[in-house]
Amino acid sequence: MGTMSKTPNESLRGWTHVASGKVRDLYAPADLSAHSGRDALLIVASDRISAFDHVLPTPIPDKGKILTALTLWWFEQLKDVTDNHFVSVHVPKEVEGRAMIAERLQMVPVECVVRGYITGSGYQEYKETGQVCGITLPEGLVDGDRLDEPIFTPAAKADLGEHDENITFEQVEERVGKETARQLRDISIALYTKARDLAEERGVILADTKFEFGYRMQPGETDLILADEILTPDSSRFWLIDSYSPGKSQPSLDKQYIRDWLKSEESGWVKDTPPPELPDHVVMKTQERYRHAYERLTGETWKR
Ligand code: ATP
Ligand code: MG
Repeated sequence: MGTMSKTPNESLRGWTHVASGKVRDLYAPADLSAHSGRDALLIVASDRISAFDHVLPTPIPDKGKILTALTLWWFEQLKDVTDNHFVSVHVPKEVEGRAMIAERLQMVPVECVVRGYITGSGYQEYKETGQVCGITLPEGLVDGDRLDEPIFTPAAKADLGEHDENITFEQVEERVGKETARQLRDISIALYTKARDLAEERGVILADTKFEFGYRMQPGETDLILADEILTPDSSRFWLIDSYSPGKSQPSLDKQYIRDWLKSEESGWVKDTPPPELPDHVVMKTQERYRHAYERLTGETWKR
């Protein structure tokens, strides 16, 4: 949290804005001396969307609500695998539906990425070195291929505006110790595997995803708690089983559509410059993908 900027946000009675990431705004109770004040965090998911480490100037309506609802649904599905930071949805009226109260944790500075399929930055690294995060993969894989076993490909959480950097398991051990590194890997793979199987039953391939963990603030806490958002189109790649065909970029229910549009001629975007406003049809198609991901996975109709 320390590296994030403090951008202006909604002023919410009873809460003090403490930090904002690219997508979410964090608030602490205004009265820290109140019951459990120091341990609570209000996490508000905005409609902002980011791509290539830039926040785009155009919001996606309902995105914050969809991400919050999907995260809550996954927390419920996966609560037997590991404890999570969720406390309640009794949030201020202004942010209802797109916010939750969570336990404020001491975050572990490792992005726990699990890949069941090879694509994106993982595929780039594999093409150049035959490895991803120090793990050697079989020869001849093509973009989108399924891996025999899911792999743990951690990244170091980068400072604001910087690219997260892939690191090896040994580098995770150096950062957090051998025991914690092993736990991060094993819990992440267990979470991924259960989520992958669940998604598959619903016609969705969970190609890869990212988890974050933290420790409770009380002294002596050693249990890793699952934090942040989980298994959303912002933190995961979702492909449709029906149109899956390795060897090319897959039709997806995630941010890939926005990345592809930014790189297209229509956007006129030049890499490393501030991205342009999104035209209405791109906003609508993006929103449709987020909604579709929610509906396919949960089996519920999105009606908010
Ligand atoms: P992006 O996800 O686009 O890279 P970001 O990671 O900088 O952006 P957001 O995801 O917008 O930021 O904001 C969420 C922030 O809150 C992250 O820094 C995450 O580590 C932190 N966070 C999530 N859950 C907790 C928690 N329970 N306690 C403390 N911090 C948390
Ligand atoms: Mg984040």
